[in-house]
Amino acid sequence: MEVKTFKSGGAHIPHYKSYTENKPITRMAAPDEVIIPLSQHLGAPCEPLVKVGDKVEVGQKIGDSNEFISAPVHASISGTVTAIEPRPAYTGGEIMSVIIKSDGGPQEFVAKEKRDPEKMSVEELRQAIREAGIVGMGGAAFPTHANISVKKPVEYLVLNGAECEPFLTCDHRQMVERPYELVEGAKILMRCIDSHKCRIGIEENKPDAIQAVSEKARDAAGIEVVPLAVKYPQGNKDQLIEAAAGKFSVRGVRSSDVGCIIRNVGTTIACYDAVASGKPSMERVVTITGPTVPKSGNYIIKIGTRIGHVLKECGVESLDGYKVVLGGPMTGMALTDLEAGVVKGVTGILVLPPDMVQEEVAYSDCVRCGKCVDHCPMLLYPNELSRYAEAEMYDALMEWNIMDCMECGICSYICPAQRPIVHFIRMAKPTIRKMQRAAAGK
Ligand code: SF4
Ligand code: SF4
Repeated sequence: MEVKTFKSGGAHIPHYKSYTENKPITRMAAPDEVIIPLSQHLGAPCEPLVKVGDKVEVGQKIGDSNEFISAPVHASISGTVTAIEPRPAYTGGEIMSVIIKSDGGPQEFVAKEKRDPEKMSVEELRQAIREAGIVGMGGAAFPTHANISVKKPVEYLVLNGAECEPFLTCDHRQMVERPYELVEGAKILMRCIDSHKCRIGIEENKPDAIQAVSEKARDAAGIEVVPLAVKYPQGNKDQLIEAAAGKFSVRGVRSSDVGCIIRNVGTTIACYDAVASGKPSMERVVTITGPTVPKSGNYIIKIGTRIGHVLKECGVESLDGYKVVLGGPMTGMALTDLEAGVVKGVTGILVLPPDMVQEEVAYSDCVRCGKCVDHCPMLLYPNELSRYAEAEMYDALMEWNIMDCMECGICSYICPAQRPIVHFIRMAKPTIRKMQRAAAGK
């Protein structure tokens, strides 16, 4: 099979996947208590459907919204609702959450009925995915039912199995262990968007996943596995559709404008589970990793399990001098509060030991080497963006298309002057958004 990739920019970075890539998915014991945020997705937050004192079952819907761009939330354990109140969010601040205390009973989801997706109408498929609260599980957390309710024709469904972010292996293991559900999920999504072609992009450092999915896809009409070169950020939407479907959507053009809908492979498997057995999004596979984590691995973890509890279960006793990152090291977010619970979009929890943590380094002025420009996959000028962001020159930042930066982190990684380019960009974006809203009269 021919190996494909994207043309502009990108970088080869160490992938550190050996800690967990060969570790089969295992289930982490359910905790005594879960904290389930009423908003775990892009769009409107849910209103609670339960009150303090209510008994809930595993998989019961406990929050929903009438807004189209939203996704219901479900109880991940059976027990009693003990509080509905703001609790720490991993993004910082607090978020309204439902707290459930376990009743100590069995905590696995049991399907009430088995359904044959092929006998269901497109509307029934979409409704099953919506009711299960499925959102993008690669981190974006966009409600999937909204994504697959497109009006425009779609040429390609592109499934993201690149998992190019260092350390993470949850998608890899799901492709190896659940290829049947992935291919059947792809068929469901293809029907929902009325597409006859599906490309599953998998980086070639996962040969076992390429083999397992190719075998299951062999007799599936229109579904092909595309091996991708190991190059960061191969899993970003623009780079993925260029490599896997030969379409270009760089800079402000949406994937649907070039006839593509992208879903993550884990999301696709969750869609299959939602349709075939009514299983809601109340647990997910998370990679817990880092060079010193005693029991690193790929775990099925109940939504709402405290991150501190997860780390303890993996044998992490002390975090003195360590850094905990939610997601991978390139696009993840450093955590300060381990009280936050795992949510639907969490792909990994990375524990970096002191020798891998870069303390605040003194950076210097740009030496005009041009490396960041050469490597930026979005064809931006990161050197200029960092200069203008540092000087708070917002009009200039708009002229240099700051909002097209997808914060992949390559420019900071590659800069010999150690300039925290992405940090500058992230800091400037909220002000730009405010200016854009004001200009639009909102
Ligand atoms: S973080 Fe933004 S500016 Fe830097 S390389 Fe990535 S897309 Fe380009
Ligand atoms: S990589 Fe750093 S030093 Fe080189 S041009 Fe970009 S900002 Fe300047």
